[in-house]
Amino acid sequence: MESRASDPPSPTSPSPSRSSSPPRIRRLEASVVNRIAAGEVIQRPSAAVKELVENSLDAASTSVSVSVKDGGLKLLLVSDDGHGIRHEDLPILCERHTTSKLSKYEDLQTIKSMGFRGEALASMTYVGHVTVTTITEGQLHGYRVSYRDGVMEHEPKPCAAVKGTQIMVENLFYNMAARRKTLQNSNDDYPKIVDLISRFAVHYMNTNFSCRKYGSNRADVHTVGGSSRLDAIRTVYGASVARDLMEISVSDDNPTRSIFKMEGFISNSNYLAKKTTMILFINDRLVDCTALKRAVELVYSATLPKASKPFIYMSINLPSDHVDVNIHPTKREVSLLNQDSLIDTIQSAIEAKLMSSNSTRIFQTQVVSSSLPTTQISTRKDKEHSIANSGVQSQKIPVNQMVRTDSRDPFGRLHSYWKDGSQSSKQEKKSDLASMRSVVVARRNWKENTDFTSLDQLVREIDSNVHPGLLDIVKDCTYIGLADEVFAVLQYNTYLYLVNVVNVSKELMYQQVLRRFSKFNAIQLSEPAPLQDLLLMALRDEELETRGDETETNDDLKEKIALMNIELLKEKEDMLENYFGIKMEDGSLIRLPVVLDQYIPDMDRIPEFLLSLANDVDWDDERECFQTVSAVLANFYAMHPPILPNPSGDGIRYYRKNREEVGLEAEILVDKSDEEQVDEELVAEAETAWSQREWNIQHVLFPSMRLFLKPPKCMATDGTFVQVASLEKLYRVFERC
Ligand code: ADP
Ligand code: MG
Repeated sequence: MESRASDPPSPTSPSPSRSSSPPRIRRLEASVVNRIAAGEVIQRPSAAVKELVENSLDAASTSVSVSVKDGGLKLLLVSDDGHGIRHEDLPILCERHTTSKLSKYEDLQTIKSMGFRGEALASMTYVGHVTVTTITEGQLHGYRVSYRDGVMEHEPKPCAAVKGTQIMVENLFYNMAARRKTLQNSNDDYPKIVDLISRFAVHYMNTNFSCRKYGSNRADVHTVGGSSRLDAIRTVYGASVARDLMEISVSDDNPTRSIFKMEGFISNSNYLAKKTTMILFINDRLVDCTALKRAVELVYSATLPKASKPFIYMSINLPSDHVDVNIHPTKREVSLLNQDSLIDTIQSAIEAKLMSSNSTRIFQTQVVSSSLPTTQISTRKDKEHSIANSGVQSQKIPVNQMVRTDSRDPFGRLHSYWKDGSQSSKQEKKSDLASMRSVVVARRNWKENTDFTSLDQLVREIDSNVHPGLLDIVKDCTYIGLADEVFAVLQYNTYLYLVNVVNVSKELMYQQVLRRFSKFNAIQLSEPAPLQDLLLMALRDEELETRGDETETNDDLKEKIALMNIELLKEKEDMLENYFGIKMEDGSLIRLPVVLDQYIPDMDRIPEFLLSLANDVDWDDERECFQTVSAVLANFYAMHPPILPNPSGDGIRYYRKNREEVGLEAEILVDKSDEEQVDEELVAEAETAWSQREWNIQHVLFPSMRLFLKPPKCMATDGTFVQVASLEKLYRVFERC
């Protein structure tokens, strides 16, 4: 009885663990076996549709239409114009393991059809009511017959029929109460069915597809065969998707690696979506391949704008004996020979395609003098600030892409602003904040001037200093999350590690600077940033940090230091521009290099960066010079915690109002009633900065690290990577609990 298999043991039934005699083993009835198996093959209505459509395609149909009632639970109707089913085959059509597509096991190696198991129709008859109407070529009439539990309910009845086959499945899961309930409670399967037909329609572009709700005269997918692939995508997914696609193809015919051919379309950097769409056909079968999907997503997050996941249509063909189609009951997955190598090749091809399209992309830069409703606008009467607004995809520009400096008043910087309580009123200071926004300008410096032995040496040093164990971890780890402001948790095999994000990002940036030496794309500042003010700002910060409230060094001295620094930077201007993409002109900073694609450093750190550039670089020796400039850049681009304190938890105290009056120390002691009085805008800004950083760590740093970082040996011992737990040991502990 079926209830034995699924019911929980009743209180009187013997409990296996306590009973002294072992329970009897019985042979299950065929109907139970079949229903269990059917539940596996037909997991939900969309799975039934997939099987039916595959049968239609196997029957050489040029037109397939699908109608769905009640998410498929009430009715599924799939009609095609294929070769039909012979009258004499109808009695066994819905028995398990009856198929016209396979006769011996070896056929699997060369099989071209999608079906081969002879299970789909049978399964449907065990969990629903199936009616088949079919006509074969040359017949005057067709036949109609209904099935239950694998057998015909009656002799096939002659009926009028149009070319092909129509299969109707009613009351799916009528005899599986739990399944039906779950499906009824969850979202209806219709969107999944639409998604499925959309995918088939893109790949089988010579077949007409339609998909609609039963009784509706509007189809949700409707394609007319014979168009191009891009047209098919446009018809199904819309012009806005098709517009942002690039054609891609790659193949490999080296038997020691992999033999395959891939053709497809992938989204470019203009495409915006929250979820990946990956339409994958391997040898014309619609399949999932999680490893490949992940690999593709990785390339995208490492090379393209953070916000978007890709759209991918990919058709891979490989010799049929390199594909094992029989690893999944619903044939949703296949196993490939040399899968890793195939994925590597595809990954590189996509990366190359994205890189090349990215470097030729010109971002619009427009300078608009307008009154943006942001807090950074200067309203001070004696100053006129133009606010540059970037035209990049009209998205809200993340905080980290804004240069927040005021050219005349160094205390316009936010973090200086709260440290310095003695300045004029808050509102006034706030209005001093001029904003400059940066825009990535794709621009290559084509001077191929890189035959410096010292540079080669530095690059070779990176290679020879790699820690192989850490390299494995970096390449194959899974990012889990941030443990605190500096450490992230990652998993590698069964181990958990803490990784110092600041250290690894600094090292990654350093290595990237050397790799991109003299070939940087540029981050264009929308307004030149005056070196003198930036340097003065940095000098004041430095003083605040080292001396606290003590009397300041006199301003003249600071100005002298700043001027000396500017002199020095001016001397090195050409070198800094040509080799490192740091462009200065007329005493202002104009451009910065793109060290990691789509990553813009924290612009609040520009003053500190310039001060460091002027003071921490060894200009005398070529090798030392390249190394130290790279290190200074790396420190600037590293993913430090944002300068605004983290407002979550204790950090909220920095954002209380009235701090000018009470001063920082007193403020900490402020009584509870004042606690709610926080500067909401600043808090929001800080929250954005912190979440942006977390986003960058997960979606920019880690994917790029996997691709590019060569971890030096010292990282194994200096606390950058710390193993915190072995999951095996943890599991053992849990088992004992
Ligand atoms: P499989 O596709 O694995 O052979 P199915 O249970 O899906 O098993 O189908 C059983 C058989 O029924 C197929 O082998 C095929 O011969 C026939 N068949 C099913 N659907 C159609 C159809 N739409 N047109 C023609 N023949 C079909
Ligand atoms: Mg089939």
